[in-house]
This record gives sequence, structure tokens and C-alpha cells, in this order.
Amino acid sequence: MTDDAETHRRSLSRRVARRVTGMVRVAPLRRMEAGFHLSIALDDCPDSACTRGVEVLDAHGLRATFYIATGLLGQDGVSGPITTAQRIRALAAEGHEIALHTHDHADLTGLSVADALADIQHNISYLQDILGANPSPHFAYPYGETTLTLKRALLGHVASARGVRAGINRIFADRMQLFACDLGSHRPDYLAAARRLMQSASISGGWVVLFTHDVQPNPSPYGVTPQVLDSLVKEAIALGATPAPIGETWSRLSAE
Ligand SMILES: [Zn+2]
Repeated sequence: MTDDAETHRRSLSRRVARRVTGMVRVAPLRRMEAGFHLSIALDDCPDSACTRGVEVLDAHGLRATFYIATGLLGQDGVSGPITTAQRIRALAAEGHEIALHTHDHADLTGLSVADALADIQHNISYLQDILGANPSPHFAYPYGETTLTLKRALLGHVASARGVRAGINRIFADRMQLFACDLGSHRPDYLAAARRLMQSASISGGWVVLFTHDVQPNPSPYGVTPQVLDSLVKEAIALGATPAPIGETWSRLSAE
């Protein structure tokens, strides 16, 4: 096989593995309250997410879920400078949810399950030190990447694990790979996709998670402008959404 053919075969088998992983639900939600539930997630937490992003959400009385990879704090990221431990503490005090995203922010499909679990444990310990309390037990896969083995292994370690596949979380959605809609201009149809999901959930019910990274006038390909975030939140509220962070929505849906 030529190098090109080998590279093609590897990327094809990776795509197939990714698709199968997304299709197999290891832990269906099983519970769903009627109505349209909305969670806004801010991943990695660039500075702009906790300034401009929080400003937009505050104007509507919303709280977000911040999935924090502790090893990125204070670093320069593709979505701009990442926030600090001090700011994370302030976000928690303001009622935002501080959730798990590993310490090293590596693609977990390249690690053994033991190493992936150890990195999540590091993340929990760092966040405990920062917050002086336990972080939220909800988790998001770095880059949305996971495997069937890892999804199963995480059961019992985290309450939910969020991916990056667009969809509406309904009764049979996988809590080890929650659907989430990527708000980022690297996806040309992201705005239309988010609106479609919200409209559908407002009609048939379900839990929509919107996630992004930076929130600034000239966002990175993985972020949005404050105007776009504001217009989506307004639209969700007009559609009758019940907005709450991931953990709060999870508790509501899981209540007996
Ligand atoms: Zn991330």
C-alpha cells in the first residue's frame, strides 16, 4: 500500500470508528421532562468568554457551564488567552457551573483508558484546589473525541459526558456522549443548525446544549460574536426555553 493509500485507510477507519461510537448509546438518559431545556456551555474558557460572554448571559439572567481544562489556564489558546484560577473562582461565586474537561486537554482516543481517567482525576484535584469545593461531576471530551471503551469506562466516574455531535438530547440520548451544537464559524451552517434544533425542541421537547469558546467581536473559528450569542439566547427565550446549566438541567430531568 502506498503512503497515501495508508493515510486514507487510517482516516477512513477513524471516521467509521467515530460514527459507530456516536451511534452506540452506552447509557440512555431514560428520563425527560416535557418542554424545551437549554444549556449554554463555554469550553476551555478564554478570557473573552468570561467577560463578553458572561455579560451577554447576565443580561438575560442566565448561568453557563464552563468546561475547564486546568492545564490550559493562563496559556495562550487558539481562541485567545485562557482565563485564570482566580476568575474561575469568581465565576463559581456568581453561580456558574465549573465542570470537567481533563487537565491536559489531549485527544483521549490517543491515550489508554487508565491514562484518560488519571488525567480527569488530575482535573478534579486541580479544580478542588481552585474552588475549595468539588467541581461539577459533568464532563466534556476534549475535541469531542471518544471511544466506546472510554464511554463505558467513564460511567461511575462522571455524571455525564458531552460530545460535539449536533442533536437534541431526548429520552434515548447517551448521557456518556450528550449531543451539543457547536457555535463556531468553522462550521458554515452553525447558526441555522442551532436555530433548527431550538425550533424542533420548542415543538417536540428536548434538551439543547449550545457550546462555544471565545465570545468577541472578531471571534476565532471556534467562537462567536456577542451579537450572535445574544440573538440565540433571545430566540430561545422567545421559544419558551427553560435555560439552566448542565448540572441543574440534569438534576431536573433525573428527578424521580
Ligand atoms: Zn476544549
